[in-house]
Amino acid sequence: MTSTTALYASLTHWDGKNGLPRFENVRDEDFAGAFDAALGAHDAEIDAIAQAGEDPSFANTITALEIAGDELSRVSALFWNKAGAHTNAAIQALEREIAPKMSRHYSRISMNEALFRRIDSLWEQRETLGLSGEELRVLERHWKGFVRSGAKLPKDSQERLAAINEELAGLGAKFGQNVLADEKSWKLVLSTEEELAGVPDFLRDAMKGAAREHGDDGAYAITLSRSIIEPFLTFSERRDLREQAFKAWVSRGANGGETDNRDTVKRTLELRDEKAKLLGYANFAAYKLDNTMAKTPEAVNDLLKRVWTKAVERAGEEEAELAALMREEGSNHDVMPWDWRHYAEKLRAIKFNFSEAELKPYLQLDKILEACFEVAHRLFGIRALEVTDVIAYHPDVRTFEIQDGNGKIVAVFLADFFARPSKRSGAWMSSFQSQHKLRLKSGREGELPIIYNVCNFAKPSQGKPALLSLDDARTLFHEFGHALHGMLSNVTYPSVSGTGVSRDFVELPSQLYEHWLTVPQILETYALHYETGEPMPKALLDKVLAAQTFNAGFNTVEYTSSALVDMAFHTRGVVEDPMAVQSDVLASLGMPKSMVMRHATPHFQHIFSGDGYSAGYYSYMWSEVLDADAFEAFEETGNPFNPDVARRLRDNVYSVGGSVDAEETYKAFRGKMPSPDAMMRKRGLV
Ligand SMILES: [Zn+2]
Repeated sequence: MTSTTALYASLTHWDGKNGLPRFENVRDEDFAGAFDAALGAHDAEIDAIAQAGEDPSFANTITALEIAGDELSRVSALFWNKAGAHTNAAIQALEREIAPKMSRHYSRISMNEALFRRIDSLWEQRETLGLSGEELRVLERHWKGFVRSGAKLPKDSQERLAAINEELAGLGAKFGQNVLADEKSWKLVLSTEEELAGVPDFLRDAMKGAAREHGDDGAYAITLSRSIIEPFLTFSERRDLREQAFKAWVSRGANGGETDNRDTVKRTLELRDEKAKLLGYANFAAYKLDNTMAKTPEAVNDLLKRVWTKAVERAGEEEAELAALMREEGSNHDVMPWDWRHYAEKLRAIKFNFSEAELKPYLQLDKILEACFEVAHRLFGIRALEVTDVIAYHPDVRTFEIQDGNGKIVAVFLADFFARPSKRSGAWMSSFQSQHKLRLKSGREGELPIIYNVCNFAKPSQGKPALLSLDDARTLFHEFGHALHGMLSNVTYPSVSGTGVSRDFVELPSQLYEHWLTVPQILETYALHYETGEPMPKALLDKVLAAQTFNAGFNTVEYTSSALVDMAFHTRGVVEDPMAVQSDVLASLGMPKSMVMRHATPHFQHIFSGDGYSAGYYSYMWSEVLDADAFEAFEETGNPFNPDVARRLRDNVYSVGGSVDAEETYKAFRGKMPSPDAMMRKRGLV
């Protein structure tokens, strides 16, 4: 322990049970100092590696990089856990300081020329170094990371790249702010019962609250926030108001003036294309996809176009059903985009008459969690044992030891299920500590994964059981699937541990796990009424499952059209007029006039507010192809817990992290590449 970090030992040196931090000693006021000390320690380690006297070897360069920054990872893990799951004003203020500091820290490392020279020389000699498959992957990922940030470019190109990145960051921020500004500036205030026809109570309450915020006390406001506009389009009986609101909603970012995003999009695409070409790629999509499972724009477009054909067919059938319903109501106009949600909801109510309230008594949190553990036991032979002598970061957090068949502890799992004001919304998995087998400077030999799940389920009142909606239950399985990816990890190097995989592969372990929630053996045992103990009636369950494919044509067309426009933008190079490209793509697809893209270009935040999902919006569907195809491997055997398939799944998906190429490892599990057929069956498209 260096003397500077000794001060912050409770943050950096964890000596609680099973290697957990002693959360009770973590003090918010220590974070700022601990970050500075840990950043400094990491810088010193990086310098020592880069300036080492000996010739570069895998051990003195790559292994050294892998174990460097241990203190920084620990401080960061504790801090980002708090920032997400249990924040306060002090943590929030610090967050604004830490985020840019971290980004500067890592970009400095990626610009370290001496360090890159060592990695590059190892890469050149990779065939003769006697590396294992995992080591070769780890080396490749470090090397590619540098190359993709421009390490191989001449000075002037590096400078140009830095300027491009900076301008892109600014454009991304501006894009998001413009959408937000357009969302905020539009409202439609309603006050009469005629105007509110069809609007249910929950939505009236929300609209009343929105009106109050806008200074229209006592009235009801339609705003462009998804939680108001979507239910309004669904329930309002006033076609004229639906049309007006819909048009405002889809023109966000394209209203002219200061907040218009069309020029921002054009400039963004120009710069992305220039960046890709500087780095030696044909276009930005090729650059983005290079380190994914899909690998090429062609592979992505093939999938999307195959799905498109089926989706648009199915949407046509759905439209005919809606049109018939409209005629019954006496309206003879065509189905327009502002009609779809409204009539689809009416049709849903006719076809599947059940409510969430009927399901909830059968979905007790504790029982569904048991089901989650039972599935893991049947598939992977592990057990979860709750420990009660650990104080975590909040009294609601529960801690479990995960044991293998011999009673050996293989992971620690923390579960933080209930909503509270100090927690951000949504659900996620993260880790305090990732699994690996390296010897650390502290002398520790490898590390147990310490993984946590955070959800936002409603906390029951004292003495009542927590009841979940079906969506909540799915979320629990989904996040636990991610947790298993971390907990079953069995690799040597931390950077390829658990969820350290590409964006189009990372949702496979989680989405796949959701399938076991609705396996009959599981529901019969665990979906029990909280008062009577009776299992959920089969008729109710069947209806719930059948309703899942309702409106699938519409959902798939909305999504796939957006994904195809994203791909077009990032493969066509410099485009004169992005809106013309959008129209062109939609026209060539034969986009039905009864629907629109899920995200039109001027407010397509996934791909223009930062480049997180640019040339990447497809990856949601890619993961779905994988999970449906993977679950079919079990179904084909007639046993959802088939031990041979489960063993292959563990060996090739849940335990290997990023240590093997995604395509290779998927083929090792499945014996073939995934086909989209299972996904299309699951969606009800074929
Ligand atoms: Zn997920």
